[in-house]
Amino acid sequence: MWRELLQTIPTGCLECWKDYKVGNPLQMKPNEISEFSDTALSILWDDGHQSIYLYEDLRKHCPCASCDHIRKSTQEKSSFKRVIPITIDNPDIKPRNIEPVGQYAIRFYWSDRHSTGIYTFQFLRELCPCEKCSVQK
Ligand SMILES: [Zn+2]
Ligand SMILES: [Zn+2]
Repeated sequence: MWRELLQTIPTGCLECWKDYKVGNPLQMKPNEISEFSDTALSILWDDGHQSIYLYEDLRKHCPCASCDHIRKSTQEKSSFKRVIPITIDNPDIKPRNIEPVGQYAIRFYWSDRHSTGIYTFQFLRELCPCEKCSVQK
């Protein structure tokens, strides 16, 4: 039973695991996606958890194949910032549009004209930079 449960959990995060126990991780859905500030996005999940992401971080973690390739070739290790900094590297990076993809993902149309990354809800939830979710990562 324990093992079966673990296999359905995308990360080793204990807090998330507690959350996941309540709901099916594949059905983890945002209740509300909104602009938190000029530089950050807020996602309120249906289990009541709130995630704040810097647009810059989301853009850097774009899951599409070409961005993945760039990340690997530059070996750039960027981690999500837990606290929203006063100044950020790319203040101009923000979504011009956010579009739902099916029932499971959203797509960002970034200000740098990039839009091939599909961010699944599960992926976004795993990226949650909050202290709770970062424990054990
Ligand atoms: Zn990309
Ligand atoms: Zn979190």
